Amino acid sequence: MEKLPTYDDVVRAHERITGHAHRTPVLTSRLTDAELGLSLFLKCENLQRMGAFKFRGAFNALSRFDAEQRRAGVVAYSSGNHAQALALSGALLGIPVTIVMPHDAPASKLAATKGYGANVVSYDRWTESREEIGRALADRHGLTLIPPFDHPHVMAGQGTAAKELFEETGPLDALFVPLGGGGLLSGSLLAANALAPSCAVYGVEPEAGDDGLRSLRAGEIVRIDTPATIADGAQTQQLGAHTFPVIRDHVSDIITVSDAQLVDSMRLLGSRMKIVAEPTGCLGLAGARDLAERYRGGRVGVILSGGNVDMARFAELLSK
Ligand SMILES: *Cc1c(COP(=O)(O)O)cnc(C)c1O
Repeated sequence: MEKLPTYDDVVRAHERITGHAHRTPVLTSRLTDAELGLSLFLKCENLQRMGAFKFRGAFNALSRFDAEQRRAGVVAYSSGNHAQALALSGALLGIPVTIVMPHDAPASKLAATKGYGANVVSYDRWTESREEIGRALADRHGLTLIPPFDHPHVMAGQGTAAKELFEETGPLDALFVPLGGGGLLSGSLLAANALAPSCAVYGVEPEAGDDGLRSLRAGEIVRIDTPATIADGAQTQQLGAHTFPVIRDHVSDIITVSDAQLVDSMRLLGSRMKIVAEPTGCLGLAGARDLAERYRGGRVGVILSGGNVDMARFAELLSK
């Protein structure tokens, strides 16, 4: 295992991504504040490049490659936001990117990844293992594998969103962060510890995918089957060897929300704030609404982690 990142790594990551990543806006809504009885600050990573915070971690990780790694390139297996984040970062930095994707991945994801110039290797998810294919490519061509969350440079990069939020808002009473594999939450915890030590930080998971909560209670990483939830960016089966210890040592608690709560928050963001968020992106807001009573009169931050949902799916979810 590599060394765990510190807040200093978040600061260095922020220097590396500045001028490449957007400094996303922090939005507020007086009507929503009145309804919830608190002051809400939404860090809008749906407006980040490629539509999610994952650009931060991917760009930071690729920026740290040495000359040999840059020449050979990077490989990852993901069909989601991490793939697009690496593809765009690689294009910007002139590093070849190979993405191992299931042959039945959504056409829009495939098109987006190819559109950024990545080389896509497809596999049959029923008969082949993406880990084996990825490892074989890495061995044969000297590619560096960058995982979606369990890597110190990825975690440090993801922490820059919370760093920007605290710099803009000052102290907060609570911060709600979407939780899949824990890259975003662990990075946010490093930032919160340094910039707002009295701020309570919560990880928010889909109800069906409560492996993080179970791991926190058990004191060790608990693995679950791929959960059935509309939050496709948080369908991870377990926290990482690097993300878990940071979360275990610093998180205030992990809470879960239902798919219905996610849709309800998507609707609130769309109708009231004219913001398009993907279901996973709404985990933080749904969690903040769930605990609104506890933070009555307080200042509450939310990381709105991404906005990559196609319009037909957006309409379908909201019409239910
Ligand atoms: C990846 C992702 C998450 C979860 O992030 P982790 O670092 O895996 O916990 C949340 N929201 C969106 C939009 C994502 O793409």
